[in-house]
Amino acid sequence: MAAGNRGLAIVAGGAGFIGSHLCRALTERGHEVLCLDNLQTARPSNLRLLEALPGFSFIEADVVNPLPAAVAARAGEITRVYNLACAASPPQYQADPEHTMLTNVLGTHHLLRLAEQAGARFLLTSTSEVYGDPEMHPQVEAYRGWVSCTGPRACYDEGKRAAEALTFDYARLGRAAVRVARIFNTYGPNMHPDDGRVVSNLLCQALSGREITVHGDGSQTRSFCYVSDMVEGLIRLMESDIDGTEPVNLGNPAEMTVNELLDRILAIVDTEAPVVHKPMPQDDPRRRRPDIGRAQALLGWAPQVPLETGLARTAAWFAEEIGATAALSARATQCA
Ligand code: NAD
Repeated sequence: MAAGNRGLAIVAGGAGFIGSHLCRALTERGHEVLCLDNLQTARPSNLRLLEALPGFSFIEADVVNPLPAAVAARAGEITRVYNLACAASPPQYQADPEHTMLTNVLGTHHLLRLAEQAGARFLLTSTSEVYGDPEMHPQVEAYRGWVSCTGPRACYDEGKRAAEALTFDYARLGRAAVRVARIFNTYGPNMHPDDGRVVSNLLCQALSGREITVHGDGSQTRSFCYVSDMVEGLIRLMESDIDGTEPVNLGNPAEMTVNELLDRILAIVDTEAPVVHKPMPQDDPRRRRPDIGRAQALLGWAPQVPLETGLARTAAWFAEEIGATAALSARATQCA
C-alpha cells in the first residue's frame, strides 16, 4: 500500500531500537510516519536508514516539553499515536531518573492530548517492569505487581505505572481510544551495543572477546522476544477493535536462565572470552515470563521466531556493527 493511505502515524521514540523497526513496518503498511525523538538513546544509524524511506519524516523533540507546533498543525492527518519514548535499559534510564519519570508522565500526557485533539488511536508501550520482582509466575495482566517505589528502578517502573494510569483515565473519560502493551524483554538488530541489556551485553562481550559479565549466579530467568514478533504484536494491538481498557502482555513465554541464554550464545559465537560474575543490581527481578493468553485470544498473536534464529540474526548484525574479533559458528551464519 502506498505510504500515507492509512493516514499519519506519530511514533514517539521511533529512532530507538523497537521504534526503528516499528517505523519501517508502518511505512510498509501504508502509513505516513512522523517520528519524534530527543535522540537520548537513539542510534543515528537507525535514523539515517529510516530517513531513506518514502513517507518517513523526523522532528527532534523531547516529549517532556509541549509538542512542537508543527505536530499539532498536522492533527487533521493523524490516525495513530504510538508512544515508545523512554530509555528502556536500566543504566540509561537511571542516568537521569527525573527525566525518565517526566518522560513517562508528561510525555504520555502530551501525546494523549495530541491523540484526543486528532481523534486518533493511542498506544502506550508499557513494560513487564510494572510487575516488579513478581510473586506470581507467569505474570498475567491482572497481577498488580511487587514494585519498589523507593529504589533506583522506580523512575521507570513507577513512571510506566503512572503512564498506564493516565492512559486508562483518558479511556474511561472517553477522551481517546487507547491500547496498552506490556512489553517483556525484546532483542534484535538496531539495539545499542552499549546499552547494558542482557542480550546486547552478552553478545557484544562474546563477539569482542572481552570479559563476559553475568550478574549473580545467572539463575535469574528472562523470556526473550525477537523484535519482528514484537512489532507485529504492537501493530495488531493498535489495529484491533478491542475496547482497549485492559493492558495486553506482549512477549515470548519461552523462559530461560541467564546461564542458559549464555550457553545459547556460546553455541553460535566462537570466543575465548572469560565469564566473570558480578553482584546482582538492586531490585533486579528474579523471574520473568509473560502469560500471553490475552494476546493470543484477542489478537491471534504469538511469537514466531525461535531464539536460535533471532540470536543468530542479532549476532550477525552486532558482529558487523562492532567489528567483532570472534567468529560466528557455521550454524549461526546459516540461521542469519
Ligand atoms: P530505546 O532506548 O532503544 O528507545 C527509546 C527511544 O525513545 C530512543 O530513541 C530515545 O532517544 C527516545 N526517548 C527517550 N526519552 C525521550 C523523550 N523524553 N522524548 C523523546 N524521545 C525520547 O528503547 P526500546 O527498547 O526501543 O524501547 C521502546 C519502548 O518500549 C520504551 O518505552 C520501553 O520502555 C518499552 N519497553 C521495551 C522493552 C525492551 O525489552 N526493549 C521492554 C519493555 C518495555
